[in-house]
Amino acid sequence: MASGPTVLMRLVASAYSIAQKAGTIVRRVIAEGDLGIVEKTSPTDLQTKADRMAQMSICSSLARKFPKLTIIGEEDLPSEDVDQELIEDGQWEEILRKPCPAQYSAIKEEDLVVWVDPLDGTKEYTEGLLDNVTVLIGIAYEGKAIAGVINQPYYNYQAGPGAALGRTIWGVLGLGAFGFQLKEVPAGKHIITTTRSHSNKLVTDCVTAMNPDDVLRVGGAGNKIIQLIEGKASAYVFASPGCKKWDTCAPEVILHAVGGKLTDVHGNALQYDKEVKHMNSAGVLASLRNHDYYASRVPESVKNALVP
Ligand code: AMP
Ligand code: MG
Ligand code: MG
Repeated sequence: MASGPTVLMRLVASAYSIAQKAGTIVRRVIAEGDLGIVEKTSPTDLQTKADRMAQMSICSSLARKFPKLTIIGEEDLPSEDVDQELIEDGQWEEILRKPCPAQYSAIKEEDLVVWVDPLDGTKEYTEGLLDNVTVLIGIAYEGKAIAGVINQPYYNYQAGPGAALGRTIWGVLGLGAFGFQLKEVPAGKHIITTTRSHSNKLVTDCVTAMNPDDVLRVGGAGNKIIQLIEGKASAYVFASPGCKKWDTCAPEVILHAVGGKLTDVHGNALQYDKEVKHMNSAGVLASLRNHDYYASRVPESVKNALVP
């Protein structure tokens, strides 16, 4: 008997359109010129009007269509009625036409946890490093990240007026990842990508231990995973707490869907059930290939300092 798309595929199709809408909000706030910056825990931990509005848009749009989901968003916002203008009701048809991997076909809405980073790379956003910014919607089932959407609102923004601005990457484990061209760093090269605005001695010690040919310091967890899948970097090294589950859920899926691996610095998988603590206390280590090599280079001193 033919049946319609599964809950998971309908959710991913909606998340695609919702992430696109959030991307337009992120661009609009800059265009209007008032970022409304609020300091959260420190001068490098910021929230802007774009973080707030994008999260309201994403969480309300998801909850309206999928009321039984557990949705965990980065920003602490007062619960208030959301302007209808912020609600996105669309779904990306191309996703609805793809087959749902068999192991996910019976998933119910209430079994899913959605991790939302409405604007990843806020510090860089406030500094005009716009292509570092992404919108992240990650979907977890039984504690595992299984589907995700990354919107990059300013993709192509320096490519000139003819280029289409913004793109959306999506993926489901067992199906694949779409919306970009997979590329690898030349064999034997170790190009490390790491934080630009949240560095410390542990981070630099760990990066140095990777024996890098080059080190790229850029903002955003989503942005760094895009560097891995597009052949710009071979490993993402962040040997520090600070990065949260909403930073890693969607990027992890995209990376895993193309054969890469994201773990903590001990090489352990991350958990995404709704009760889990938000902080990735044992850091992040991600690579498209040769994960064992990078994990083997993490110094014992770094491992001892980062308890899961
Ligand atoms: P980064 O690579 O510095 O852009 O960090 C990746 C993600 O982790 C971003 O969402 C950051 O906001 C978050 N993050 C990392 N370190 C910290 C920190 N020390 N305080 C707050 N957020 C952090
Ligand atoms: Mg983030
Ligand atoms: Mg954020």
